[in-house]
Amino acid sequence: MDRTVGAETPVRPDAGDAFLSWVDDAPVADGRRAREWGDLLVVADGEAYELRHRADRGRPRADLVDRDPATFRGFVRSDDDGRYRPFAGERSLPTGWVMPGLDDPILLRAVASAYPAGIEEWADDADPVPYREVAARQTGIYERVANLSRAELTDVTAAVCGNCAKRRTWDETADDTLPVDRGAGDLPCREPCSFLVAAAREVLVDEPPDEQPPEQPAADVPPGDLTDPANRYRVRYRRAGGNPTTHR
Ligand code: SF4
Repeated sequence: MDRTVGAETPVRPDAGDAFLSWVDDAPVADGRRAREWGDLLVVADGEAYELRHRADRGRPRADLVDRDPATFRGFVRSDDDGRYRPFAGERSLPTGWVMPGLDDPILLRAVASAYPAGIEEWADDADPVPYREVAARQTGIYERVANLSRAELTDVTAAVCGNCAKRRTWDETADDTLPVDRGAGDLPCREPCSFLVAAAREVLVDEPPDEQPPEQPAADVPPGDLTDPANRYRVRYRRAGGNPTTHR
C-alpha cells in the first residue's frame, strides 16, 4: 500500500509507515492479516484496519463493544475493573471492545495511545539503556535507586516487568543480563520505565520490622500505590524472593 503518514498522528511518519507496512505484510491467519502489538491485535482489514485486545482475537465483532477512537486514549488508562493502570505496558489493558474501519492516522494514534513511543522504539532499534545508567541519572528522592543490589533489581524486575506486555531488552548486554524472563512479542522495552524506577525506590524504603507484610494483594489498593505493603507489585516483589526487611 502506498502511503505517507501525515502530521495528524503523534507517530513519527517514517516509523508509522514502517509499522503499517509490517502489519500489511503479516501472514494470513483465519483469512486475515493480523499482528499482535503488546496486548493489542492490529488487523489489516481490506482498505482499513481493526483494533481490539488480543485476548478477543477469536470473538465475533458483534460480541464486542464499538469504541470511539476519539476517547480511546482515556479508555486505556483504566483496567476492566476501572482501576488506573500505573504504566502503559501493564497487562491490564481493558478487553471486550473493537474499533473497526480505522484509517492510517487514526490507527496509529490509537496504537500510540496504548503504547506511547512504542512504534518509534521498535522502528529505531536503538541500543538498550541499562538500569544502572538510568539509575545514575536520578536525582532527589530517586537518587537512592542507584544503591539497588543485583538481587533486589532481579526481584523488582520479576515483579514489575513480569506483568508487562513489552519485551524487555534493556539488560541484554552480556554483563547486565538478569535471570528474569524477558517476555515475548514485538513491542520492545529498551530502557527501564519510570514505574520500575519508582518500584525500585520503594523496595529500598524500610518497612516496620514488627509488621507482617500481607501475603495477598489487597483489591482496594491501587496498582500504582507502591507505598502500601498490600500493593500488588509489593506482594509480587516479596514472592519473587525479596525480603523488604533486609533490603536496606
Ligand atoms: S521496564 Fe519493565 S515494566 Fe517498564 S515498560 Fe519496560 S518491560 Fe515494562
